[in-house]
Amino acid sequence: MRRKIIAGNWKMNKTPSETIKLINELKPLVVTEDADVVFCVPAISLTTAIEAAKGSNIEIGAENMYFEESGAFTGEIAPNMLTDIGVKYVIIGHSERREYFAESDVTVNKKVLKAFEHGITPIICCGESLTQREQGVTIDFIRQQIKIAFLNITADQAKTAVIAYEPIWAIGTGKVATTEQAQEVCKAIRDCIAEIYDDATAAAIRIQYGGSVTAASAAELFSQPDIDGGLVGGASLKPDFGKIVNYK
Ligand code: PEP
Repeated sequence: MRRKIIAGNWKMNKTPSETIKLINELKPLVVTEDADVVFCVPAISLTTAIEAAKGSNIEIGAENMYFEESGAFTGEIAPNMLTDIGVKYVIIGHSERREYFAESDVTVNKKVLKAFEHGITPIICCGESLTQREQGVTIDFIRQQIKIAFLNITADQAKTAVIAYEPIWAIGTGKVATTEQAQEVCKAIRDCIAEIYDDATAAAIRIQYGGSVTAASAAELFSQPDIDGGLVGGASLKPDFGKIVNYK
């Protein structure tokens, strides 16, 4: 039985002082025994967030990370900078990073490899555009993203990874995928993992749905057989996130 994982993606929102305020506000609302709860916050607020979340069930994640150890990469964050302050998760390959910062399947793979090397759990994002969905190539496209993201990743590592299926047309648009669409793709991702590795790895890996999840849609989405929680953007900055975490 896979444990649910519900993560907030704060994107480029909240200053460090606003971070303390929001974590203090959300802390009592996201208490649960039934799921891992992760707040992925901007890099500048990671230390503050870890401090603010101490003693709670909230784990802190980064929204990005570079794939080199150190050196002349102005503006980038190295994996050991994250582990040094206690960061446990990192979002990799979010569609906004692919679109605005030229991340490719290959850089995603390099980052996933590096995250595992440092014991950070990657939340690996994949998802199709509206055109791809309308052209009927969604599953082919997602399978390609997954196959490249997991190149040279061992089965033991893959078992601990988190995949976030996020249709691009549903992110920040208020257009949530139907339960059937979300389940269909999450199952296809699990089947793809079984093909790359084996059934045990596919049964262990956690797959989230992301894209305009709200308190109203969470229960139905998260009760699908292949959906193990969510990656939540806009609603993770509001008290509603407590309802999403406690969706049952
Ligand atoms: C996201 O940023 O990963 C996301 C799913 O955003 P939203 O919930 O706002 O659509």
